[in-house]
Amino acid sequence: MYDVLIIGGGVTGAAIARELSRYRLKIALLEKETELAFGVSKSNSGIIHPGTQNPPDSLKGKFCVLGNLLTREIAKELGVDFKEVGELIVIFNEADRPRLQQIKAEGERLGVPRLRIVERAWLREHEPNLNPDALAALYAPTAGIISPYRWVYALAENAARNGVKIFLGHKVTGITPEPGNRRLNVSVSRTEEPRRSVSGSEVTFRARFVINCAGLYADEVARLAGIDDLTIKPRKGEEFLLDKKREHLVNHIIFPLPTPTTKGILVIKTSDGNPMIGPTAEEVADKEDRSTSDAGLQKVLAATRQLVPSLSENDIIAYFAGLRPVAGKDFIIRHEAKVPGLITVAGIQSPGLTAGPAIALLVVELLKKHGLWPHRKLSFQHYRPKTTHLFSLPVTHLPFLLEQDPTYGEIVCRCEMVSAREVRDAIKRGARTLDGIKFRTRAQAGRCHGGFCTTRIMKIMIEELKLKPTEITKRGPGSNVIVESRE
Ligand SMILES: Cc1cc2nc3c(=O)[nH]c(=O)nc-3n(C[C@H](O)[C@H](O)[C@H](O)COP(=O)(O)OP(=O)(O)OC[C@H]3O[C@@H](n4cnc5c(N)ncnc54)[C@H](O)[C@@H]3O)c2cc1C
Repeated sequence: MYDVLIIGGGVTGAAIARELSRYRLKIALLEKETELAFGVSKSNSGIIHPGTQNPPDSLKGKFCVLGNLLTREIAKELGVDFKEVGELIVIFNEADRPRLQQIKAEGERLGVPRLRIVERAWLREHEPNLNPDALAALYAPTAGIISPYRWVYALAENAARNGVKIFLGHKVTGITPEPGNRRLNVSVSRTEEPRRSVSGSEVTFRARFVINCAGLYADEVARLAGIDDLTIKPRKGEEFLLDKKREHLVNHIIFPLPTPTTKGILVIKTSDGNPMIGPTAEEVADKEDRSTSDAGLQKVLAATRQLVPSLSENDIIAYFAGLRPVAGKDFIIRHEAKVPGLITVAGIQSPGLTAGPAIALLVVELLKKHGLWPHRKLSFQHYRPKTTHLFSLPVTHLPFLLEQDPTYGEIVCRCEMVSAREVRDAIKRGARTLDGIKFRTRAQAGRCHGGFCTTRIMKIMIEELKLKPTEITKRGPGSNVIVESRE
């Protein structure tokens, strides 16, 4: 029996879990995948938006501005790097200036700080690789970048440290109100057989409140409870990662003018150093269609070369696609009167990564409004020790680390400078798959795509997790790296 059950372990669920863990409550988070952050939260641009390019009266706009403020505060507490790099929305024609001024005015109405329009001379000085034809830009200095997955892992780790129980590989298959009292029964199918754990693959959780933040599947989870007015339409975004040697291609995140449906195709700085270009925006039918295409690549290259002409296709080292969970124009965050105790947090498209901590505050308010009277914990642990990443440290720091543990010198991933010690730490913090290790450490994320390090990582996984080689997966069941021959 729980006070609150959270369905979905993306940034929304993790931020809600962390916020609720400030209170004396029994909380659990259920995630169908083998690890957290394997849904939309793993495939995005990693931008903590300032709040511009949102309709002034939208929840998206309001939560983006507040989310930007909260993210930088919480990131500091949790030892996650947040870099304030600023963004530029660039125009090339005088005719577009009124639109730029309108975006500025709308941003100011939402409370976006320090917006200003900068002219060609400023752009030449501060953004030398920008197309010299650029006429002016709206400069939003509070835009920032963060590693989306490390952000989710940090939020969830801190929530767990404060008492939240996290159940991975637990897919919600039913939500039924208990007759006569305000409780919800949540049926769960265990999507993988956890070794050395209780037997049986169906379990039921009881809770006073259930929060549906199941991303692309929030409509299907809502339907399990009889709520049928939600439809999530996936909108695909293809993104292309560039080699780290182009780290200083741009100094800011570069946007074109937004379209009615997206913020456009951008040149992005990422927290790990590799610039990125994208995303496209294309409605797709299949919620699992994460394919990338040559058409997408050509579209992204054409659009971003208009912004930064020196961009070359040869700089691209990796690509991926993410699906925005679109349910209309705005976020949908509400208590379901038809199913008392059920809260829906759906349609969390962009800027959902930014808005997470602000959405969490609204959810707490909704819970209070509908009968939860939580008491703050005196023992709430705000802080999480910063994780060591060799790639982000100056070389002069290495001798101190080596003194602490010589396995910091055992380099497992040469492209990204990741040591055996970091891989072991990632496993201790919860990584169970090759992707989980990649997202936490960057091992396998470089130019050789794991050609050098995969077997070395697998060896460590075998030692630390006591797995057989055939049990190691890339991202959970069905993605085993080595398959036993049946001959
Ligand atoms: C291409 C692209 C670029 C973007 N760029 C940005 C950006 O730069 N900045 C920004 O602010 N936002 C950005 N976004 C938006 C942002 O990524 C999303 O808003 C955010 O990640 C949504 O998080 P979530 O937790 O709501 O969903 P998810 O991360 O998808 O989490 C939902 C979780 O629920 C789980 N789940 C589903 N069904 C069940 C079930 N039945 N039982 C248990 N668990 C279940 C899923 O496995 C998943 O892990 C971008 C999105 C895309 C696609």
